[in-house]
Amino acid sequence: MITVLPDHIANQIAAGEVIQRPASAVKELLENAVDASATAIQLIVNDAGKSLIQVVDNGKGMNEEDATRCFGRHATSKISCIEDLFRIQTMGFRGEALASIAAVAQVELRTRTAAADTGFYVEVENSQLVKTAPVAAPQGTSVAMKNLFFNVPARRNFLKSNAAEMRHIIDEFTRVALAFPTIAFSLHANHQQLFQLESGTLKQRIVQLMGASYESRLVTVKEETDYLNIRGFVGKPDTARKTRGEQYFFVNNRFIKSAYLHHAVMNAFQGMLAPDHFPLYVLFIDLDPQQIDINVHPTKQEIKFEDEKIVYAFVQAAVKHALAQFSITPTLDFDLDASIQQLSSIQQPFTEEKRSAAADSSIFRSFTQKNQAHLIQPSGFTPYPSDWHTSEPEPASEATLLPSAIEEQTISVTGLLDAYILYPNRNGLWLIDQQGAHERILYEQLQQSSSDQPVPTQRTLFPVTLSLSPADAALLQELIPTLGSLGFLLEPKDPGSFMVQGTPSDLPSGQEKMIIESILEQYKHFNADVSHALREKLIRSMVKLRCIKAGTALSEKEMRQLVVQLLACQHPGKTPDGKPTYLAIEQSYLAEIFSR
Ligand code: ADP
Ligand code: MG
Repeated sequence: MITVLPDHIANQIAAGEVIQRPASAVKELLENAVDASATAIQLIVNDAGKSLIQVVDNGKGMNEEDATRCFGRHATSKISCIEDLFRIQTMGFRGEALASIAAVAQVELRTRTAAADTGFYVEVENSQLVKTAPVAAPQGTSVAMKNLFFNVPARRNFLKSNAAEMRHIIDEFTRVALAFPTIAFSLHANHQQLFQLESGTLKQRIVQLMGASYESRLVTVKEETDYLNIRGFVGKPDTARKTRGEQYFFVNNRFIKSAYLHHAVMNAFQGMLAPDHFPLYVLFIDLDPQQIDINVHPTKQEIKFEDEKIVYAFVQAAVKHALAQFSITPTLDFDLDASIQQLSSIQQPFTEEKRSAAADSSIFRSFTQKNQAHLIQPSGFTPYPSDWHTSEPEPASEATLLPSAIEEQTISVTGLLDAYILYPNRNGLWLIDQQGAHERILYEQLQQSSSDQPVPTQRTLFPVTLSLSPADAALLQELIPTLGSLGFLLEPKDPGSFMVQGTPSDLPSGQEKMIIESILEQYKHFNADVSHALREKLIRSMVKLRCIKAGTALSEKEMRQLVVQLLACQHPGKTPDGKPTYLAIEQSYLAEIFSR
């Protein structure tokens, strides 16, 4: 039997495409404020957007009629005919965002235009108008959406931890803030100010967002050609970080993701970066909209260039040139054709003739030949070590020979070469690798820890202070509970800094800062199951730092403890990385060898 879905359910389903998580609503609301010509935009979130997302702008506002109409499906003031689609300059245009938000949250809108004396208040829930009333309001618009997915429990349950959702929100906020440096932005989360960005230049905006360490460490990128313009900044090679997260491309002021263009930048930095390091870049590529196919779905961040090889080559050349000009690369390995620099901007249509002229230019030829696009090696982009997905080690086959529960006093052990323990038992002889065994023991101990049963913490006598960029500080704030269960006690101090009040009791001192910073870097990469991956990574790095290394002489008591603890493990036969922890030599094998 076919039935027609009630409107509110159809709306909820459609909303799922546009609003997948709090960060998608943040993006839509910020873009609407930008489109309304606001010069100052505030973003306020509580519970990582799960209970409140509010955007307040000082833009042109809406009159009474538009304020009620804007929540309708396909309600937009931005296009009125199909031709408009191809001229579109604004961020949104499909008229779906507010309709979608109204389908999955409780929304309160306050708005006033410059021409009106009083503002207008509208409340919407489940796609239904609940209340409308005149209200005193400053010029501009405030949209507050409460309890996202309150009426779609399946989606609400699907949301990730607050730390993960906050990470996405900060990402979206950063992207919009980078694209519009002349607009002032602020971000408050749970009544705390995370960002206060004054109107300024792109360079100032980057420093405000990514931290003062970039102040004198940004290199200007600027090339203009008939086909496209590139402008922005790259970080000097010594600011490159071991993990990604500060790489941004904008095409016609819209953030995009492109592994292909990322490769072009990496190629330009070739030979200047430490292994596995990624430079900061914020690059704006502007070209004739006819030359790109923005997927008409506004939430998609992929893009297709009409001729992506040209774009690749120009990005690479522009970055190379920038690095060379600042004497960062020792030599100029291509000539920048002065006539190309002077060519007028991309406003004019790019004809076939111009394209081939560009392709013939010396700048273009000099780099395309050397750096063929087919040299891309995706393996270079592995965002985290390949051992990351190592599955839980299987019990070693020798485990079948495990001696049954043993008392520490009853066993005898002999140390060998400060690295191995010889442990005779009734099945034969074990040669245990002390480091591998300890890794396994620590790994299982840490895995069993939880917020109810945290790893024992030792208060630090002289607490270390961690100073972080605003974005990193916001993230660390969200990680405090996870870190707490693993034995790290952190207290927020001034905005952007934290005191390390305690560390896991057997962590060598002096390591805390390094560990926490590396945890943060690691964390930035996980979009998947963040909390699981994060904990796992954390545990593995703590194991590596804390384990007894080969070359350490152990007392007989320590060796006995190690053996007993290893035998108590669930998977005693392998280190967390899957290497064997011991070698078992059966008595029968010995007998055979020596022909008894
Ligand atoms: P779109 O942005 O694709 O047009 P939206 O659903 O995001 O669709 O918004 C619908 C309409 O509501 C917009 O076209 C605009 O006219 C109006 N609008 C939304 N947000 C604002 C705002 N912050 N200030 C002024 N007008 C707004
Ligand atoms: Mg919009």
